[in-house]
Amino acid sequence: MVQVNDSYLKLKAGYLFPEIARRVKAFSEAHPEAPVIRLGIGDVTEPLPAACREAMKQAIEAMGTREGFHGYGPEQGYAWLREAIARHDFQSRGCEVSAEEIFISDGSKCDSSNILDILGAGNRIAVTDPVYPVYVDSNVMAGRTGESDDGGRYGGLTYLPITAANGFVAPLPEQPVDLIYLCFPNNPTGAVATRDQLQQWVDYALAHDALILFDAAYEAFITDPELPHSIYEIEGARRCAIEFRSFSKNAGFTGTRCALTVVPRGLTGTSASGEAVELWGLWNRRQSTKFNGVSYIVQRGAEAVYSPEGQEQVRALVGFYMENAAIIRRELAAAGLQVYGGEQAPYVWIKTPDGLDSWGFFDHLLGKAHVVGTPGSGFGAAGEGYVRLSAFNSRANVDEAMRRIRAL
Ligand code: PLP
Repeated sequence: MVQVNDSYLKLKAGYLFPEIARRVKAFSEAHPEAPVIRLGIGDVTEPLPAACREAMKQAIEAMGTREGFHGYGPEQGYAWLREAIARHDFQSRGCEVSAEEIFISDGSKCDSSNILDILGAGNRIAVTDPVYPVYVDSNVMAGRTGESDDGGRYGGLTYLPITAANGFVAPLPEQPVDLIYLCFPNNPTGAVATRDQLQQWVDYALAHDALILFDAAYEAFITDPELPHSIYEIEGARRCAIEFRSFSKNAGFTGTRCALTVVPRGLTGTSASGEAVELWGLWNRRQSTKFNGVSYIVQRGAEAVYSPEGQEQVRALVGFYMENAAIIRRELAAAGLQVYGGEQAPYVWIKTPDGLDSWGFFDHLLGKAHVVGTPGSGFGAAGEGYVRLSAFNSRANVDEAMRRIRAL
């Protein structure tokens, strides 16, 4: 009989979002008169920027002509998109990243999971707690962890607690690790790292021959000009870090799908025989074999983000969500809640009131205000005692949700 990948059986059964959906469904069925506002999931709500839509329409028309038709594109993405990204996102900020080092993909979720294909099974892995669950689950699926304990932590992973006490920036590990997942601006806490904090991580990685997997999916939400958007703004990062970026949150591409991964030339890992091997070559090989590129139409849409109109429209979109985040912060603070994040990120991380754990506060918000958040405990044991609210929603929904919470 065919065998299954037993590692999948280690995954915790009660995944966060299905459980939220179950509770919301049960509430809505019992109270059909109470309209529920969902500030739980991290999907965007506002329409695609006009510049992106226009570019995609033109690309569709071109595809209908013999001269403008495009079949399989380069697995790494079209050069014009990679060049625009290198110039606008990296070189303009002083980062030495070339077009050749940028790999276009259909999502950061896939890239941050697929990267394990080119990394050995023996790596000691560190994740923050709480964490974007994909980093943990993809390691479980790849057989890189032990079983989970009662608290939902997997054997073999090093968990770095991020708490109010450390400003939600992970402390350096006490035991050596080889692979470190960092995400700034952070999902779920909304925290951001300073240049000095990232420098400490880069110095650690260089000193321990470790690799940082840096998830910058939310970099566009940084408003403080002093804060770094890319790990490559940090001295030495080219020798120890891979960066993931996405058009999902800045340009509303969650349903359109386009993202990128930067693998610097000269960044190496070690083979079993002790040789230094360039990761760029392995990722290039991996993508060429297992991926056939993002659609031409979508890449033209992503390219339009870098046109003057696209830049202006994306800035407006991000600004709109950040205004939502400011409203959520202000109103919840006025309601007497302790709030974190939401200043350089579209997530607000709320301390639950005394006596309520994450699910208790989730149920309270749902039952009394008909507002759906995300229980912090779903992102890891150290997320217990918090709920995440997302700024991705219409202004009317945010205003109404805050009015209801204030009235509680
Ligand atoms: N990285 C983080 C930290 C996220 O929160 C998300 C989506 O919520 C992603 C990556 C996924 O991005 P994409 O839509 O490009 O797959």
